[in-house]
Amino acid sequence: MQISKKSLFDFAIIGAGISGASTAYFLKKYGKKVVVIDKGKIASGGSGAAGAFLSPKICSNSLYTSFVNDAFAYSIDFYKENFPQFLNQSGILRLLKSKDEIEKCKRYEKNLPTSFKYLQANEIKDIEKVACEFGGYFFDDGATVDSIGVIKSMLCDIDVIEGLHVENLELKDGYYNIADIKAKGIVICVGKSDDFDEISYIKLKNIYGHRLDMKTSSHIPFHLHKSCSIGASDKGIVHIGATHIPSYSYDSHKDFTYKIDEMIELAKSYVDFEDFEVKNIHFGARNSTLDFFPALGAVIDAKETLRKYPYIQKGTKVPKDKYIHRKNMYIHSGLGARGFVWAPKTAEILARNICENIPVDKKLDTQRLFLKYAKSSFIYG
Ligand SMILES: Cc1cc2nc3c(=O)[nH]c(=O)nc-3n(C[C@H](O)[C@H](O)[C@H](O)COP(=O)(O)OP(=O)(O)OC[C@H]3O[C@@H](n4cnc5c(N)ncnc54)[C@H](O)[C@@H]3O)c2cc1C
Repeated sequence: MQISKKSLFDFAIIGAGISGASTAYFLKKYGKKVVVIDKGKIASGGSGAAGAFLSPKICSNSLYTSFVNDAFAYSIDFYKENFPQFLNQSGILRLLKSKDEIEKCKRYEKNLPTSFKYLQANEIKDIEKVACEFGGYFFDDGATVDSIGVIKSMLCDIDVIEGLHVENLELKDGYYNIADIKAKGIVICVGKSDDFDEISYIKLKNIYGHRLDMKTSSHIPFHLHKSCSIGASDKGIVHIGATHIPSYSYDSHKDFTYKIDEMIELAKSYVDFEDFEVKNIHFGARNSTLDFFPALGAVIDAKETLRKYPYIQKGTKVPKDKYIHRKNMYIHSGLGARGFVWAPKTAEILARNICENIPVDKKLDTQRLFLKYAKSSFIYG
C-alpha cells in the first residue's frame, strides 16, 4: 500500500511476520491506526518458511503445556472464524518414536485439550503408505494454515511498507520517526535481531529450517508429524519441513540448502512416496526465549531501571509499576516452534494490554526476562 508522506500513526509495527501481522490485526480492531514495516517483503522471515502446523502438545501437566494447549484451541477457532480459506483441517497424525514414548503419552493423554485417537502401527499402515513402528496419536482438529496467505490476508487493509530496514527508534516531540513515518508507539516484532539496543535484555536464540513444496502423485490424506512434518496433499503438492539447523551450524555453512537432502530422506523414511519433485525451497529461522514462553508486553528500559534500583540485581523485589519503560514501546516475539499457534492469542493479549491496560500474564511478560538479565549481569564485588 502507498503511504502518504509524513503520515501519522498510533503504532508502527516493525516486522511483517505472523507476530507483526496479528498484532496489527488486533490493534486495528481496537481502532488504532497502524503501519507495518519490514526490511524485506511480507512474511520473508521465519513465518514464510513455516509449515504452520497447528497441533496440541502431548506433555506433562506443566504451565507451559496448558498455555500452549489453550493457544492451540484459540488459534483453531480464530483461523476458522476469520481466515477459513487458509486453514487445512485434515487432522494431524503425530507419529511416536519409541515404546517409551507410547508409555509417556498414555500418561499425558488427560492433559490433551482436544479429541484424539491412539492408532496402532498396523492401523496406520492400513491408512497410507506410512512407516510407523510405534503407532501415533491422531487429532481431528489438527490443521495447517497457509502461512504466507494468512499473513497477507491479515494485512490486506493495513498500511505496509516493504524494504525499509529500521535501525533506530528515535523518539522526538512525542513521536517515533521512521523515514517519513511518525508513530506514537512502536511494537517490535522482528524475531531475533541485534538491530535494537532497547530489547537487548531479552535473550532469544535462533534455529533455522526449511519448508519444501514437493510435487508428488502420492496422496497424503492428513498431516503427519515426527522429526519432520509432512503436510496433507493439496492439489498434488505436499509440504515437508523441519527446523533442524542450530544457528552455530548454519553460521559455519552459510548455505541455505544445507541439510535439505537429509530432511528429504527423513520424509521418505516416513512415507513411501511414489515420486517426488522439489518445486520451491523456503528457508528461515524461528526464535525462542530461554524458557520457551513468548516475549510479550511493554519494553523495560533496562539500564535506567537498574540505575534506579541496582539491588534488583541481587534479587530484591521491586514492584513492576516502579520499573522504567520505554515510552509506548512493546514487543511481541520469541514464538518458538509454534508461532502460528501462539500469535492470535498473544497478539490479542498484547492489544488488550495496550488498549485496555489489562496486565500481561507474568509468564509471558518480558519482566521475567529482565530479572534474568539483571541477575546474570550482576558483578560481585
Ligand atoms: C522451517 C520452519 C518451520 C516452522 N514450522 C512451524 C509450524 O509448523 N507451526 C508453527 O506454529 N510455527 C512454526 N514455525 C515457527 C514460526 O514460523 C515462528 O514462530 C514465527 O514465524 C515467528 O514469527 P515472527 O513474526 O516473530 O518472526 P518472522 O517471521 O521472522 O518475522 C520477523 C520479520 O521482521 C523483519 N525484520 C527484522 N528486523 C527488521 C528491522 N530491523 N527492520 C524491519 N524489519 C525487520 C524480518 O524481515 C521478518 O520479516 C516454523 C519455523 C520455521 C523456520
